[in-house]
Amino acid sequence: MRYSQMLIPTTRETPAEAEVASHQLLLRGGFIRKLASGIYTYLPLGLAAVQKVARIVREEMNRAGAQELLMPMVQPADLWKESGRWQKYGSELLRFTDRHERESCLGPTHEEVITDLARNELQSYRQLPMNLYQIQTKFRDEIRPRFGLMRGREFVMKDAYSFDIDDAAAGRSYDRMYEAYHRIFRRCGLDFRAVEADTGTIGGSFSHEFMVLASTGEDTLVICGQCDYAANVEKARVAIRAGQQQGGAERIEEVKKVATPGMKKVDAVAGFLGVATDRVIKTMVYLADGDPVAVLVRGDREVQPVKLKNLLGAAEVELADDETVYKKTGLPVGYLGPVNLTLRMVADQEVMLMNNSIAGANEKQFHLTGVQPGRDFQPALTGDLRQITAEDRCPSCGGPLTLTEGIEVGHIFKLGTAYSEAMRATFQDREGQARPFVMGCYGIGVSRVVAAAIEQNHDENGIIFPLPLAPCQVIVLNLGINSEETTSAAERLYEELRQGGLEVLYDDRDERPGAKFKDADLLGFPYRVTVGKTFEKEGKVEIRRRRDGHTETVPCGQAAGYIVELVRGELAAFESNG
Ligand code: ATP
Ligand code: MG
Repeated sequence: MRYSQMLIPTTRETPAEAEVASHQLLLRGGFIRKLASGIYTYLPLGLAAVQKVARIVREEMNRAGAQELLMPMVQPADLWKESGRWQKYGSELLRFTDRHERESCLGPTHEEVITDLARNELQSYRQLPMNLYQIQTKFRDEIRPRFGLMRGREFVMKDAYSFDIDDAAAGRSYDRMYEAYHRIFRRCGLDFRAVEADTGTIGGSFSHEFMVLASTGEDTLVICGQCDYAANVEKARVAIRAGQQQGGAERIEEVKKVATPGMKKVDAVAGFLGVATDRVIKTMVYLADGDPVAVLVRGDREVQPVKLKNLLGAAEVELADDETVYKKTGLPVGYLGPVNLTLRMVADQEVMLMNNSIAGANEKQFHLTGVQPGRDFQPALTGDLRQITAEDRCPSCGGPLTLTEGIEVGHIFKLGTAYSEAMRATFQDREGQARPFVMGCYGIGVSRVVAAAIEQNHDENGIIFPLPLAPCQVIVLNLGINSEETTSAAERLYEELRQGGLEVLYDDRDERPGAKFKDADLLGFPYRVTVGKTFEKEGKVEIRRRRDGHTETVPCGQAAGYIVELVRGELAAFESNG
């Protein structure tokens, strides 16, 4: 590829709307352009990066025995009504009506379509197991599309679906995908972890997320330092420690009302009463599918919304703002408490272990002391509702935990028979009995992988592509375009590298060396070869590795062979690593 002929609109300024590195660098490097909120055009280099990921995904899915197909993006509402998700999926599902008044949606995922296909086309246990996948554009009307390719509304996903005769077989399909995903992300050259995960709207019983470790990740993971436990905090179970009673069980007090003028926050109340915040019961109002519910946690804890959602069996939960709380309940915000509260209450398991605690009095400017859970109030539900912290212990082995940020690039689920039963998708077993398929589904955010790779691999000058994902492995800079000799040497090098099977960008533009160096750093291809002054003086070219700036000069005639060997060797290492 000749730079002068290519559409690579790089810019020097950092676009104001881009908050994270991958978004900034993909825009600045001319990889993507925004069309509308969360909707992007992939320019040639952006598309090349996405295709690199897609190719690795395809190879490993095929190796694992999956078959590629391509399903429609437009899906009839009727299928979604059968599965029950037309109601449940919420506003991320973009629904519309066609000219015949038929309701449809743009596919955010394809469980319904594939289950429909399976019930029509798979009849016998002899056809199973079967794993079908596609690489396709998805649409989700994300509430906050952001960070460029990281959370788009339109994005490229690989989604696979497995069909098995029973749980044991489905478990083997799941394990095969778990392995394949490890191979995929290793081959992409990424630092990642598989973690236990919540199953979300897709449903199902069991799942793992694959997380690229990066400080800008929207997910938080907890990792045990002692065993191999790793989980998304949405899922990570908080283990109650033996004897975790608090607040002086020595003497149970009576409830007393105390004036706490202007003290609406836990910190203020605790400070005023001279106790630690873990003695206060924090009462918050959430809207669960629109209905107010009081949520109780210890004063020093945070509610984990996904755990709350699961405990309540709600599709969506959201913290209510002060005005809504007042409107919906007439209660004084800041002074809420569980005693004589008329709202439905759910409490974190730890709340039930508190003694002589402090809580709002449901009356402005007053709190209660001596509050005894169980005696003074009884929540409708109790469970593990709070966010795990680094001070907690591993729920599996009791070891120390660390919390770290990650970007979810893949997600695998055991679906069981949820979809096949709802949609009556059955096969005949050995005895001729009709049985529902036992299913699994497996997603990879192909376009998000590109963003995640950049979040993990960049510096102040630009992208540092892992070799397997780089749109080109080498950029050749011709710094003497007015010199015939330099130019013909650079052209020859470019040709030789291409003949050696490498993907090369040849910078033949009439630009200052400074601009060429800057663009080369920004684009982030693994090797830069400069044909310039050193060539004119000594017939040598400079080879620089983007990752660490390691530089060497070699005679021009030997350069191509040397680089081809280098790149091939490194690529082979990634592939065998898979
Ligand atoms: P998230 O929690 O980030 O919204 P999800 O759990 O909704 O993700 P899945 O339904 O499991 O995602 O989809 C499979 C994969 O598709 C995810 O692991 C992620 O890599 C990718 N993905 C999901 N939503 C987006 C999006 N809005 N933009 C880009 N990629 C996405
Ligand atoms: Mg999502």
